[in-house]
Amino acid sequence: MRQREETQPAFETQVISAVRQEEAGTIQGAKLIQAGELVAFPTETVYGLGANGLNGEAVAKIFAAKGRPADNPLIEHIAKKSDVRQLWSRIPKQAQLLMDTFWPGPLTLVAPKCDRVPEEVTAGLETVAVRMPQNKTARALIAKAGVPIAAPSANRSGRPSPTTAQHVLDDLGGRIPLIIDGGACKYGVESTVLSLVGEPTILRPGAITREMIAALIGEVRVSDSILKPMKDGEVAASPGMKYQHYAPAAEVIVILGKPEQAAKRINALYREAEAQGRIAEIAATEQTKHYYKGRRHLVLGDRNEPETLCANLFSALREMDTRADLILAEGISAEDEGLAYMNRLLRAAGFHVIDASND
Ligand code: AMP
Ligand code: MG
Repeated sequence: MRQREETQPAFETQVISAVRQEEAGTIQGAKLIQAGELVAFPTETVYGLGANGLNGEAVAKIFAAKGRPADNPLIEHIAKKSDVRQLWSRIPKQAQLLMDTFWPGPLTLVAPKCDRVPEEVTAGLETVAVRMPQNKTARALIAKAGVPIAAPSANRSGRPSPTTAQHVLDDLGGRIPLIIDGGACKYGVESTVLSLVGEPTILRPGAITREMIAALIGEVRVSDSILKPMKDGEVAASPGMKYQHYAPAAEVIVILGKPEQAAKRINALYREAEAQGRIAEIAATEQTKHYYKGRRHLVLGDRNEPETLCANLFSALREMDTRADLILAEGISAEDEGLAYMNRLLRAAGFHVIDASND
């Protein structure tokens, strides 16, 4: 369970509803961005914490508010495709097709950067990550600001990414002036990050899957670090991969195996934990919830539709963290959107996995 930390509030954080007052929210947000301040805003993936993407000093405030390591680069968000020309020094050959097919949407493309992109955004890399979001409020904010908006997820560094304005307020209340509330995010996991420098390589999986990208541009590599911890001394293709991520304060264990095997093992672990006086909770699915009757559990979605699990994962981790000190989660097949799910879940668990498939 998470302890609240004491911080000195620097701002009275205002929350403006994008449903009732989109115009007012984006006008005020754009003014803040132009003044070099931070704004949290909804996207279809997770909430972003944005600053003027051409102003290094403004971008530095993002790292301070999140407690983010300085060597973890951000994504530039744009409102129209042609704006990539402001950010990339050249457009890689597969980029146009990918942009025409998947933008606006949850796909981030990495390509060589222009000089005007501040080093705070790229953490000193020669490449910059760019995305055109699908969320209309996000695009209205960027268009009104008149500059690309550099943004990572709007959580305190290391915590699960925020999928509601309340999550952002819980993490960053008092640290930022404005949150635009666009309701719950559609996908619930961060964008797919695809590098187009050299062989196309997925650095982070998301709702635009390897299968969808390969159908368009041919074979794509998937970075080794997606389902494995990075080894000491290994250089991260995507620096974000090397950090402890998405972690609730509770211990998280992932249990692999067929649904029945996994559920049996989870119930044994649950009994053991409770006998030790711990409070356990199970991250369950529609297919397995009947195994957990009488035990604390939360149904995240359907094992055969991993996008439903993705949509609920981060909010479920935050919710269970308020009740439990041990979270027992079923692993699923790492295919299609299951790859994004397992990538986030394994990191939340610090790669603590129990394989029940031979039980
Ligand atoms: P977040 O969405 O909060 O995870 O932050 C942006 C993610 O994009 C991080 O995981 C970064 O590692 C990744 N990223 C941003 N820029 C680059 C880049 N130039 N090359 C590779 N990965 C990047
Ligand atoms: Mg993040």
